[in-house]
Amino acid sequence: MVKFIKYIILFSIFFLQVFYWSAKGSCKEEKNQKLIVSFMEIKSTNTGWGLAVIIQTPGGRTYLYDTGPGQYPNESFDTGRDMIAPFLKKNNIKIIDGVVITHAHKDHFGGFKYLMDNFDIKRLYDAGYSGCKNCEPEYDNLYKPEYISKGGKYQLVKQGDTLNWDKDLEVVMLSPPPTYLNNDENEANTNSMVVRIKYNKITILLTSDITIAGQEYLLKKFSATDLKADVMSAPHHGNDSYLPFAEVVKPEIVIASSLNGADEPALVAQKIYSKVGAKVYATCWNGTVQIVSDGVVCSVITERNK
Ligand SMILES: [Zn+2]
Repeated sequence: MVKFIKYIILFSIFFLQVFYWSAKGSCKEEKNQKLIVSFMEIKSTNTGWGLAVIIQTPGGRTYLYDTGPGQYPNESFDTGRDMIAPFLKKNNIKIIDGVVITHAHKDHFGGFKYLMDNFDIKRLYDAGYSGCKNCEPEYDNLYKPEYISKGGKYQLVKQGDTLNWDKDLEVVMLSPPPTYLNNDENEANTNSMVVRIKYNKITILLTSDITIAGQEYLLKKFSATDLKADVMSAPHHGNDSYLPFAEVVKPEIVIASSLNGADEPALVAQKIYSKVGAKVYATCWNGTVQIVSDGVVCSVITERNK
């Protein structure tokens, strides 16, 4: 009988341990339930422009929405090497689950080369728009073919496509349309990929470099409900901030990715978006700006105050 009790006790300890470890395991999985969107400071002194956004999903994946400048002649700054890689290392991130290149301009794809050479990038996304008069050819002729030739997966994203980034996020591409917008003189910018990220009650709208023509298209194509966002990036580094679009999106927080010593686009964003009650942050004033959300509320972390 004593022996029997001993077995019952040993058996109970075993099951308690299994329960403990499985409970511990599930706790681990639920630890990171935050969406973190980081608008990196661009420290280049001679490009004039730049955008690189790191998106860390609640489930622990990492995506990039553009990679900033990096390959200009006489350029000592590379957003991939000098900003994104240190950020990933600091956060112990070894794999980049996906990179969106919103349009073929160097201030958006320049950092991709360093990242492609030094990180495991699971997927490259773009809208397939190429060869326009103001597209910069290095992306379509060099970077993208090199990435694919090394075995990288490429995905052409079409308007309305949902990107399967995280079970808790709805990520949709709103623009450009399948036939692209061809009647604007700045076609590459106008056809930038506009991506909307929803995490429960919080919506973030990433607008890259869409021009006023691009924003007018979105206003015609989508309802105000479709475009409403809590957080948005200022169109074209802030330079193409457009009041009718601002009035429909009606964000609480706006981030302009404008360069130090060249904050004119940020000033345009502040002028327009303050009219709709938004608080405007800019990478030239605040350094890297992070949005952290649990899906219900979001907070802003800045490297420095204006
Ligand atoms: Zn740009």
